[in-house]
Amino acid sequence: MGDPDIVDQVALDEVVSFTSDLIRIDTTNRGSGDCRERPAAEYVAERLAATGLDVHLLERTEGRTNVVARIPGTDPSADALLVHGHLDVVPAEPADWSVHPFSGEVRDGVVWGRGAVDMKNMDAMVLSVVRAWARAGVRPRRDIVIAYTADEEASAIDGADFLVEQHAGLFEGCTEGISESGAYTFHAGPGKQIYPIAAGERGTAWLKLTGHGTAGHGSKVNGQNAVSRVAAAVARIGEHEWPVRLTPTVRACLRELAALHDLDVPDPDDPAYDVDAVLNKLGPAAALAEATVRNSTNPTMLDAGYKVNVIPGSATAYIDGRFLPGGEDEFRTTLDALTGEHVDWEFHHRSVAIEAPVDSATYRQLRAAVRKFAPEGQVVPFCMSGGTDAKQFSRLGITGYGFSPLRLPEGFDYGALFHGVDERVPVEALHFGVRVLDHYLRHA
Ligand SMILES: [Zn+2]
Repeated sequence: MGDPDIVDQVALDEVVSFTSDLIRIDTTNRGSGDCRERPAAEYVAERLAATGLDVHLLERTEGRTNVVARIPGTDPSADALLVHGHLDVVPAEPADWSVHPFSGEVRDGVVWGRGAVDMKNMDAMVLSVVRAWARAGVRPRRDIVIAYTADEEASAIDGADFLVEQHAGLFEGCTEGISESGAYTFHAGPGKQIYPIAAGERGTAWLKLTGHGTAGHGSKVNGQNAVSRVAAAVARIGEHEWPVRLTPTVRACLRELAALHDLDVPDPDDPAYDVDAVLNKLGPAAALAEATVRNSTNPTMLDAGYKVNVIPGSATAYIDGRFLPGGEDEFRTTLDALTGEHVDWEFHHRSVAIEAPVDSATYRQLRAAVRKFAPEGQVVPFCMSGGTDAKQFSRLGITGYGFSPLRLPEGFDYGALFHGVDERVPVEALHFGVRVLDHYLRHA
């Protein structure tokens, strides 16, 4: 299948051992600054350097290592393509798992451990493809810049943000990028194997609310209670029904999902279109669109006071807000109105929303690469409800697609494995990913 002379047995063996080895290197990122990606970075850097590439190891903070290398393409007039993967993982509690989350155990054809799908699998697939090319003496058409980043699971300040701020030159000529969260099998019912490709991400707006009032004794009359004021604002924000705003990616997603399910519904461009009614008819596939038809604001933390009979002068709350591509102005204006005059709000953390075209040559090539190796699959674009390093790289003008191909058997719920307990990936899925990536990246 495909190009067996390039994706050889060594590549198929290496992708498994690389995934397993990378899982065994514990790169837990709690967001508290104690993560050390360096051993994982050195692992991939050594194996890239062995192919003859110039490999850069870059740190803003000691131990928080990023790796960047460029593979020269055969067509010097072509734009470069970025392939990025993060080396850190979210925490895992061993007591909850069937196998130790940092064992990298390969059992019955499945690789187990934290990072098996997010995203040491993709890190390993890319590494094994690059090494297969070196053995076969082939080069891609476009320059390909490979970036392994630190700190994606927290602020990216030691990772992609640092690379964009301090080492933009390494990404010169890159117009598009691929990375995590797309092109995996989404089982949407009998005969419905969907391969969603991410072509957008909502923006992150983590908000801090501060309510102001007059401090005083809890037994006295107080018409300026900061706790009541922040609580009222939190309730308004949490219960706010954000209006439906369909971006081009989400429109395409809804249109294609409706066709796949043989739904007799209006087109999303039709004024009669009722997105909630359509989502209700989509079954499991609704999960690919339901979080991205609106902005959202979920209250998550509250903090006020220190004694039951003392009214504090201020009170704080935190909101996990997300805004759609093109939705930030409406988000800000709405927050101003919902908080009211005695409650201030500010961004505790903010990052941009991004959107990639789904009528592009690149999207068509990504779709064709999946279909070549999974002819039963239906490729559908979607917008991620959260975010990845693609947001950082967008500041260099790089359009990002979520594309980490995996063909997963039924029973493997990718969404649940992501940051979940018993994260694992079948060996066959890794082999599929190597074949798809080799094909796509070489011909891109
Ligand atoms: Zn990830």
